[in-house]
Amino acid sequence: MTLKFGVPNKGRLNERAVELLTKAGLDLGEDFGRKLYIKARNQDVEVLFLRAQDIPEFIATGAIDLGITGQDQVAESGHTLVDRLDLQFGFCHMALAVPEESGITDASQVKDGSRIATSYPNITKRYFQSLGKLVNVIVVTGAAEVMPYLGIADYIVDLVSTGSTLKMNRMVEAGRIIDSQACVFTSEEALKRYGPQIDELADSIESVITAESKKYLMANVPRDRMKDAEGIIPGLEGPTILEIAGNPEYVAIHAVIDSKDTLHIISDLKKIGAKGILTTEIERLVNRWRPTAA
Ligand code: AMP
Repeated sequence: MTLKFGVPNKGRLNERAVELLTKAGLDLGEDFGRKLYIKARNQDVEVLFLRAQDIPEFIATGAIDLGITGQDQVAESGHTLVDRLDLQFGFCHMALAVPEESGITDASQVKDGSRIATSYPNITKRYFQSLGKLVNVIVVTGAAEVMPYLGIADYIVDLVSTGSTLKMNRMVEAGRIIDSQACVFTSEEALKRYGPQIDELADSIESVITAESKKYLMANVPRDRMKDAEGIIPGLEGPTILEIAGNPEYVAIHAVIDSKDTLHIISDLKKIGAKGILTTEIERLVNRWRPTAA
């Protein structure tokens, strides 16, 4: 059965989502970007390029089986979906933001009847309802931050990542509503039907994300400094140690290390007389074992 996988067709999430799928092994050919859907050449998966905000609805109705979008979009849709894999990108949070000169520092100070511009009316309504406030929600499709300046709204609810857009528009945050990142979402229904296929895809994407933060390190270490080397390189489950033909004074060690530790590990290995130190990228790192269905 062909799995239908929704991917944002443009915007902030598009490029990284496509990169993850291709790195995870889906062969999408060359001319994606122009097509609305592509059948992977090497797997029973069809990738459909859709608006990030439509993806939750399409998963919930069964039009697609899984998809990549932001947690904010799922919260806005109101659908209960399965967050199958956090993708570690598209980090942002939704906030109530107010003009600097408003003097408001907390959502509790917002008066009933205030006008709030947002592209996320459902989240905004739920948020103010939970605070027991009656506000007027003004739906905009973008550039919410200029609405107070135009006199169309008093405050806004919008996504923030660095905060630079708010700063540029002389606004400050007065309430954090939800945190968000990009995830692979699916539904209980799709999992019932295609669980193993979905697991395989999600595990494959996860292995790419895990591998990106790691490096494979090899070094020749004086045999009598092995204990020191093991202290320097904890590795995944301790380093692999190999004999070197014709060179009994040294042993070769191979290990997976965190990329962020590379510099200090190399420097510490040099101090104990290691030679031939090299690091390489890892394409995938699979740590999880799943029994295959009988
Ligand atoms: P957009 O590219 O603006 O259509 O936004 C699509 C999705 O990207 C949103 O639903 C969020 O999940 C995420 N996103 C939006 N704005 C930001 C941001 N400033 N930083 C990081 N992710 C964002």
